[in-house]
Amino acid sequence: MQDPRDILRKTFGFPDFRGVQPQVIARVMAGANTLAVMPTGAGKSLCYQVPSLALEGTCVVVSPLIALMHDQLRAAEAVGIRAATLTSADENRDETIARFRAGELDLLYVAPERASNESFRRLLEQARLSLFAIDEAHCVSEWGHDFRPDYRLLRPLLDRFEGVPRLALTATADAHTRADIAEQLGIPQDGMIVAGFDRPNIRYAIAPRENTTRQIQDLLAEQPGPGIVYAQSRAGVDKLAATLAAGGRRVLPYHAGLDPQVRRRNQAAFVASEDMVIVATIAFGMGIDKPDVRFVAHAGLPKSIEAYYQETGRAGRDGDPAVAHLFWGADDFARARQRIGEVEPARQPGERTRLAALGALVETAGCRRRILLRHFGEDAPETCGNCDNCLSPPAAVDASVVAQKFLSAVFRTGMSFGAGYIESILLGQSTERSMTNGHEALSVFGIVSGEEAALIKPVARALLLRDALRANEHGGLEFGPGAKPILKGAADVKLVLPPKRERRGRRGAAG
Ligand code: ADP
Ligand code: ZN
Repeated sequence: MQDPRDILRKTFGFPDFRGVQPQVIARVMAGANTLAVMPTGAGKSLCYQVPSLALEGTCVVVSPLIALMHDQLRAAEAVGIRAATLTSADENRDETIARFRAGELDLLYVAPERASNESFRRLLEQARLSLFAIDEAHCVSEWGHDFRPDYRLLRPLLDRFEGVPRLALTATADAHTRADIAEQLGIPQDGMIVAGFDRPNIRYAIAPRENTTRQIQDLLAEQPGPGIVYAQSRAGVDKLAATLAAGGRRVLPYHAGLDPQVRRRNQAAFVASEDMVIVATIAFGMGIDKPDVRFVAHAGLPKSIEAYYQETGRAGRDGDPAVAHLFWGADDFARARQRIGEVEPARQPGERTRLAALGALVETAGCRRRILLRHFGEDAPETCGNCDNCLSPPAAVDASVVAQKFLSAVFRTGMSFGAGYIESILLGQSTERSMTNGHEALSVFGIVSGEEAALIKPVARALLLRDALRANEHGGLEFGPGAKPILKGAADVKLVLPPKRERRGRRGAAG
């Protein structure tokens, strides 16, 4: 048996293992079932590639996406690992099967749905197996952010090959999901190896969306280096890419709707470039190895904290300073809530918890990194010195009274008007509409003035985020379950105001 460190040097050309790699590899080599939780970029693939070369037999790698499999295959072959994929899309299946049987493969990549296929099981019995590597193992857990029922087919297969060790790998698991993955895959709880999640060179910055295009244009104007801008839809990508390209910087779009050739060309251009910006859907980035990405910007709310961490984790893999910007809107939360209402009832509580965690991350006046790390079960100091809130602490304002006024205005006007109209009522702005509606006679007309006026918009955003207000299909605001406790004074509405706005308010008060 070859020494793993020799393999690392000779085959991969790396001088040393990183982080928890040596621990994971030692456990695997000793034949112990293992769950490795390592952030994106930490080098998970090496944890099974090195044993696959050191151990006798073939390592079967379960991977959820064919595109990902092909990237991994190319990378493995590039360093001289004997690898193949076995999918319905492959033309050389007979050849792959023959090589596998003859013991000529170090790695065999397969999709999870193969696991239930009886002829595949028989095939595995005809070859010598060194290891099962289960990539993206969070897909096995309903608590995870990307549950795939096919992953549930793996357990019976793994159990049939008791003598073959299993290594589950994931980047994105909170403590609860982690325990579930181990349970589902028959890995002992003490077989878990968790790497540190902190990415100290990434600065986190999160702001409410005002004018996304403008905000991202401003960002591009001051932020050098290659960057990724994540938009929420294909149409959004095309539009944003076109607008940003007009600003002079090299900007290209990337999404699944583009011609495959264009997509490949744009991706290759980005990987090779030192200053380009790619505007993409979240599909972009998986399996792309570009260490010098200087910024990642989200034009809308990511799916979960896990997704945010993974997507922002594509910045600064070289260890040099990088920035992660997120621009969120109250409507992102409303849409997410609507989507949750459409998933199976059993999964709704988990999804709601995930959304609440995102709400806490974007609304906090405290350290963003602390929230992220604690989410992944790690302890973290109160401040990190490298996120927007630590670098310029925002002012926290108790806006409960303005929130109550806003809610009563919504109520008094019959729960059918939008935020702009409610604001004009609160400010006492007389319009034709307010006159015809007879709303100028209401007690809430003109009830907000002076310094409080600046709080109206942020209050509306906070009420929507908290599900105290919901917009109906016509944009009219209605009460949600969060409204009552605020009206009764049982729940506070604390607002975080960016430092800039606070300064403006003070100047106004003095003058
Ligand atoms: P992950 O799957 O955890 O996101 P990868 O396996 O794709 O990460 O590895 C990320 C990058 O780090 C790759 O370019 C890989 O070659 C590199 N890498 C992994 N381990 C080491 C190491 N010990 N020394 C140097 N580079 C490494
Ligand atoms: Zn911080």
